[in-house]
Amino acid sequence: MSDTSINLARNYIDGAWRDSIATEFLPVPNPATGQALGRVPLSIRTEIDEAVQAAAGAFPQWRRLPVTERVQFLFRLKDLLEQDVEDLARTITMECGKTLAESRGELRRAIENVEMACGAPALLQGEFSEDIAAGIDEFMMRQPLGVCACICPFNFPGMIPFWFLPYALACGNTYVVKPSERVPLTMQKVFVVLQKAGLPKGVVNLVNGGKETVEALLDHPGIRAISFVGSTPVAKAVYARAAAVGKRAQCQGGAKNPIIVLPDADPEMTTRIAADSAFGCAGQRCLAASLVVTVGEARGWFNEAMAEAASSRVTGYGLDEAVQMGPVISEQSKERIERLICRGLEQGAKPLVDGRGAVIPGCEKGFFLRPTLLEGIRPSHELATTEIFGPVLGLTHVETIDEAVAFANSGPYGNMACIFTGSGASARKFRSQVEAGNIGINIGVAAPMAFFPFSGAKESFFGDLHGQGRHAIEFFTQTKVVVERWPKDWSRKF
Ligand code: NAD
Repeated sequence: MSDTSINLARNYIDGAWRDSIATEFLPVPNPATGQALGRVPLSIRTEIDEAVQAAAGAFPQWRRLPVTERVQFLFRLKDLLEQDVEDLARTITMECGKTLAESRGELRRAIENVEMACGAPALLQGEFSEDIAAGIDEFMMRQPLGVCACICPFNFPGMIPFWFLPYALACGNTYVVKPSERVPLTMQKVFVVLQKAGLPKGVVNLVNGGKETVEALLDHPGIRAISFVGSTPVAKAVYARAAAVGKRAQCQGGAKNPIIVLPDADPEMTTRIAADSAFGCAGQRCLAASLVVTVGEARGWFNEAMAEAASSRVTGYGLDEAVQMGPVISEQSKERIERLICRGLEQGAKPLVDGRGAVIPGCEKGFFLRPTLLEGIRPSHELATTEIFGPVLGLTHVETIDEAVAFANSGPYGNMACIFTGSGASARKFRSQVEAGNIGINIGVAAPMAFFPFSGAKESFFGDLHGQGRHAIEFFTQTKVVVERWPKDWSRKF
């Protein structure tokens, strides 16, 4: 795909591609070059209504298709996605900025969710109790909800819709996807793949847009459930607005992920993994390490090795296979991150490595920062609790594991927390006491596999059932309990 081969993102409604009737459009730049890749429409309420009507029209037949037949479409989808991984990965890298290896990894995770949803025939099985009273049986079955929708963030354009969509379809629901307006092009290609998989028209629909498109989805009476992933203020607002009209909602929010390094950790492994966590995807992962709390003697070796890892990371255009870190998503994002670094310095942090002012030869108009390492973050500093979402790692130091856990628990978020140690007892204490939904023990990005829930907590998640795995099956189904009696002589009455 050349930089200009997609000009205008289109909606996919009722099995057909449609040009939006929106009057407002946003440019979609390549964050590495600043060049325009295309434009995205901010779709209006009428278009959302059409997508929901199409999904509602497809629902009665889709839900009646046996689950064993519904998953055949997902098996086909997996094969087709595998065939297109390279092309999709290039699109992700071009619109989102991450490296090709990171884009391929993202798609692997997407495909794993399709594979997991292929197990729906077993996952959807109900429960049965014989003779709960004399001659009476009781059972619980799972039925689809109807039309469901997801609203996605910019940082994983190929993966995050797959935390929800395959499960929703496997459970018998029909679906609407709203990608981030900053990275709409990956879903353009994914929907070509969905079309090839032969899904009946109306079963999956795509609407492009921003805030107002989201509000139209939230307000639409035809939508039963909303899955949202994005920043915490928006997650909270989406959760409240969806709940106010009786929709089921699961809203994953922002993060500020701490890593605790104990003196008995393996120095080489710890710094290598922590650097990947902090600077992978240019720090634009909801599971990126944002703050390292060193304990006791760990400070000396860790800070020195991390400064080396940060300053030697190769930053550039992600399409170049030698590059280890790409740009951030936008000029505004770059400016916001640079402002936060300044703020950290004003409040007393020391720059061990300062990545501002990065100029990448050949990509002078790209939105680049190099890895940045700030030492001396205190609990009162803004950078102790603010999500930066860029390649900036804060360092702080304490003397005991208890102080480290207290620091980790002091912020509002609870997406992930990791510990590096050689001690089982320390790891056990940490995993029990730390208030985060995803825990890494000698792991830097504790991303749950598709068969586990993506378990954010505190201000990182609003709802009950998370994305992925069995949680997704439960989220996308309504339980129905039947209590049943059949008198022995009933048949003789007719
Ligand atoms: P964002 O909140 O700006 O946007 C997310 C989605 O919400 C987009 O589709 C956007 O169109 C829509 N939106 C934006 N503002 C809105 C508003 N005022 N009203 C209604 N809809 C609105 O998030 P982003 O910048 O695209 O993504 C980065 C954020 O997502 C980070 O905070 C990151 O931590 C978070 N994230 C969380 C997870 C997780 O699993 N917890 C995963 C990935 C990203």
